[in-house]
Amino acid sequence: MFAKLDVPSQRPNDADVIIVGAGMVGAAIACLLASQGRSVRLIETRLPAPFSPEQPLDLRVSAISQASVALLDLAGAWQHLQQMRLCPYRRLETWEQAGCATRFSAEELGLPQLGYIIENRLIQLALLRRIEDFANIQTHTPAAVQSLRQGSEHATLLLDDGTELQASWVLACDGAESLTRRLAGIGVSRFEYRQHCMLINIDTDFAQEDITWQQFTPSGPRAFLPLPGQHGSLVWYDSPARIRALSAMDNDTLAAEVRQAFPTRLGGFRVTGKGSFPLVRRHANDYHAGRVVLLGDAAHTINPLAGQGVNLGFKDVACWSDLLGAAGDDWQDADLARRYEWRRRPDNMLMQSGMD
Ligand SMILES: Cc1cc2nc3c(=O)[nH]c(=O)nc-3n(C[C@H](O)[C@H](O)[C@H](O)COP(=O)(O)OP(=O)(O)OC[C@H]3O[C@@H](n4cnc5c(N)ncnc54)[C@H](O)[C@@H]3O)c2cc1C
Repeated sequence: MFAKLDVPSQRPNDADVIIVGAGMVGAAIACLLASQGRSVRLIETRLPAPFSPEQPLDLRVSAISQASVALLDLAGAWQHLQQMRLCPYRRLETWEQAGCATRFSAEELGLPQLGYIIENRLIQLALLRRIEDFANIQTHTPAAVQSLRQGSEHATLLLDDGTELQASWVLACDGAESLTRRLAGIGVSRFEYRQHCMLINIDTDFAQEDITWQQFTPSGPRAFLPLPGQHGSLVWYDSPARIRALSAMDNDTLAAEVRQAFPTRLGGFRVTGKGSFPLVRRHANDYHAGRVVLLGDAAHTINPLAGQGVNLGFKDVACWSDLLGAAGDDWQDADLARRYEWRRRPDNMLMQSGMD
């Protein structure tokens, strides 16, 4: 329930929009709204480590669609990403029975590539680099939200360093376990898949080509994502018990298991890193409450099978930025939040159910 506030209309901390979470989604919406001239406060609990080319590749990578590339370009971050590292993929193959593969290629579709595999941290860093260009974005980090009060025209956040911030919109971009969502009183439906997933980074004997592939097996899919140079990312879906057992192995023992479970096309490789994740589908019961609007994983999480999670988040970003930009003087109109949900929920639901 929201306490109605009696607050003055202008205070030193007033901003048009407060964004909670400077992950990929929060940092992207910050750039787009700032370029529309909105004043933005961006709150983040922890910033990513800076990039240097000799760093080993991160475990967390995403397959980024062409639509997401266009959004990152519009946000002004793509140029920074190109100076770091990324891997285009131009062919995609999936199969269940050997010899019966479904194939897509960029060439057939008249595209330069189907998308890119990029480390999540680098996408975030490229956006944060772009944020430095905007005098109208003020960042609060490290800082976390402690409480939320809602009024009919403003929301007020209290941060853990005692700062009080007030804005017309609060965008919850604080991920799957969003505290802002909880403080706004929005519940979630939640479904835990009976599979967990393991990410394994490998160094390969040969430089990667431009292909990503996925084999469906009775115990779950096995996928390969190319990374720049002689590197790759494997995704192994299996029962929670099997993934737990694999996670406990040293890299050489795990490599032997991978050789048994993955197709021989993998060639020679060494395991360099690993991590495991439970798979949870979540969907917020509402995408907004009062002046709070949910974007990205705060609104929905999806089985990573088709690599759509952050691509859906970027579609939320494009939608909210378009709505606010087109609203002109009515940018504070509460109806914008309803229109946002009306546009985004069916698309997110369709993709979620497509993965089941
Ligand atoms: C195994 C796996 C593989 C995946 N592969 C892909 C893929 O190939 N393609 C794809 O599109 N998606 C993929 N995804 C999904 C993708 O990783 C997520 O959709 C994406 O990270 C969500 O971004 P976000 O910015 O919404 O949330 P997050 O990345 O969770 O960012 C939230 C940010 O908010 C900050 N924060 C949290 N709480 C607070 C607080 N109280 N105050 C201030 N800041 C806070 C956090 O520090 C963080 O920086 C995958 C997911 C998994 C689990």
